[in-house]
Amino acid sequence: MQLYSTKKQSEEVTFQQALFQGLPPDNGLYVPHQVPKLPQSFFDNIEHLSLTEIAQEVTQHLIGDEIAAEDLKKCVETAVNFDAPVVKLNERIFVQELFHGPTLAFKDFGARFMAQMMGYWLAKSPQSQSNPIHILVATSGDTGGAVAQGFYKVPGIEVVVLYPKGKVSPIQEKQFTTLGHNVTAIAIEGTFDDCQKLVKEAFLDQDLQNAKALSSANSINISRLLPQSFYYFYAYSRLKHLQKKVVFTVPSGNLGNLCGGLLAQQMGLPIAGFVAATNRNHVFPTFLNEGQFTPHASFATISNAMDVGNPSNFARIIEWLGDDHQGFKDKIWGKYYSDEETAETMQQVFQKTGYTLDPHSAIGFRATDEFLANQPDDTIGVFLSTAHPAKFVDVVEKAIGQSVDIPSRLQQAIDQPSQAITLGTDFEGFKSYLLHKA
Ligand SMILES: *Cc1c(COP(=O)(O)O)cnc(C)c1O
Repeated sequence: MQLYSTKKQSEEVTFQQALFQGLPPDNGLYVPHQVPKLPQSFFDNIEHLSLTEIAQEVTQHLIGDEIAAEDLKKCVETAVNFDAPVVKLNERIFVQELFHGPTLAFKDFGARFMAQMMGYWLAKSPQSQSNPIHILVATSGDTGGAVAQGFYKVPGIEVVVLYPKGKVSPIQEKQFTTLGHNVTAIAIEGTFDDCQKLVKEAFLDQDLQNAKALSSANSINISRLLPQSFYYFYAYSRLKHLQKKVVFTVPSGNLGNLCGGLLAQQMGLPIAGFVAATNRNHVFPTFLNEGQFTPHASFATISNAMDVGNPSNFARIIEWLGDDHQGFKDKIWGKYYSDEETAETMQQVFQKTGYTLDPHSAIGFRATDEFLANQPDDTIGVFLSTAHPAKFVDVVEKAIGQSVDIPSRLQQAIDQPSQAITLGTDFEGFKSYLLHKA
């Protein structure tokens, strides 16, 4: 796979190079030069394939020119070792549960795949053991846990997680502050955007570049996006027999999950449309509805993994869909909801169906319901459930008036003591910390 930068000032690279580099030197984003269509035979047979088999076919198709089929198969099997079931909520609305991985959120797909691919290539390069790669990751909640757990104890890798102090849920915080070993957590006295800015600055800093091998694990890394296409294929495979048009609703923040869907569509998956749903951080829905892209400082909400004021994958979406605004609107419908509407939806869905939604997925349900109301009967909707309700237990219990069961793998993390250091938002402080860190 060859990739180019959205700013078009940097050289083309292979997938392996983009994986380790994260961002191109011109500070754009890597996008595949070409996304080849999968053969028709794949789609004819897709309902007989498991999620892992689909994942293998898709990765082989995309990056099979860079890694032997047997090795790739092993990486995919290790990364995607959990299910993504599709559950029917009513005649027209289905939920795809993407929270059956180790940190109970969809980011396990991207992080685990990335960790496996890096681990594979690092094992072939002896110098990585003496000068480990530092993975810098800014998180608004779920990325930190998924990346920390995905890379935990992978030889040759040190993980540094930056998170906005006091703005992630206590359970999310536990998932990346309790591991130790090669995982360091830094609480930044600021917002998620401040964290993201520090990471971006680190990549542009010459002193750091000379002293450390740095890499990113945010959704800007292309290796995070590829595996986020797998489950779109899988959901389609399980609904194919209904012979309906399928629309996907994506609870969105940095738009990485949506990029996974757009990739699947480019590979030939017949997706009839997308709904991008957000909380009151509505830069993208506002762009879809009004044509203006106006980043702002992020607001704190109860769906905090989507508290993003300047979605980092926007440049990729523009690259793929062009800047014809009407064309854009025909492909993606945008909608946003307040915290009150989110809580109300959790409560209503629980009352009507007995199904418990986390706040992000609740936004997905509501947008799907609203979108389908104006669509003909031949269209059904799947919304991606991006997190398990137990990760947001306080908010969910308050909304539905019932207690939520905590899965045992989550309880184990909760029982461990946290370790994190605190830093301000100034770059010099962060830089000095990194330079003096072992
Ligand atoms: C990260 C995250 C999102 C947003 O996904 P993006 O790829 O950033 O758009 C939504 N829900 C949850 C639970 C998340 O962790």
